[in-house]
Amino acid sequence: MKTLGIVNQKGGVGKTTTAINLAAYLAAGGRRVLLIDMDPQGNATSGLGLRGVEAGLYEALSQPERAAELIAETGQERLSVLPATPDLAGAGVELTDEPYALRELLGRVSGFDVVIIDAPPSLGPLTINVLAAADALLIPLQAEYYALEGLAGLTETVERVREALNPGLKVLGVAITMFDGRTNLAQEVEQSVRAHFGELVFWSVVPRNVRLSEAPSFAKPINQFAPLSSGAAAYKRLAEEVMQRVEKI
Ligand code: ADP
Ligand code: MG
Repeated sequence: MKTLGIVNQKGGVGKTTTAINLAAYLAAGGRRVLLIDMDPQGNATSGLGLRGVEAGLYEALSQPERAAELIAETGQERLSVLPATPDLAGAGVELTDEPYALRELLGRVSGFDVVIIDAPPSLGPLTINVLAAADALLIPLQAEYYALEGLAGLTETVERVREALNPGLKVLGVAITMFDGRTNLAQEVEQSVRAHFGELVFWSVVPRNVRLSEAPSFAKPINQFAPLSSGAAAYKRLAEEVMQRVEKI
């Protein structure tokens, strides 16, 4: 079982969209996938069609022995979710002194090939738990002028977590999201991101695609909602690249 954290402390860069659709394509490709929604906003949970969930990740963090019971099926074969509930917002405080709560929970989870964790937009205790539990990180970067700004904070936090909590933590790659090929700006941003991160940047670039933003309100991943869209094609290719890299870690 390989655990992949989707992290970037900025909001709105495509973490949740990437978590949902990557998970869906990995499942479509035959992997047994668990998506853990670590963001109290619960966008990954609702985006996969789970609503009004009474218990989920929050309960599982304090009672890991209940993990199996709290994991829910989705409308897609081989794709399960450990949902977020609003309670999770309170877990931020409770987890301050418990950086390994998620790792301990994962120790009770079995029957999956890949675990994808959708992290919240902060570097707080929830994200520290993700960094302490993950084998590797995928960092979505929105193709806009300030894409690289603020990443220093993430890089420093990753370094600290490596030293103190999770020496094996790797960066699987950087995924460029919301790319608008009609603008010079997006192309310049892509070039500077590739110049900065080199081979860490996935070849597959996710375009800005309205179908990707519509899919969550239909509670479906893009492979079910609009499989022929440009967004679907990009996430399918990204999933293939991710699998190639995951097999090497
Ligand atoms: P985060 O989880 O980092 O906050 P989201 O994945 O929720 O980011 O994306 C922020 C918003 O942008 C959402 O409304 C989402 O539907 C939309 N979005 C994300 N990726 C794309 C894309 N490639 N094309 C169009 N809209 C997108
Ligand atoms: Mg999100």
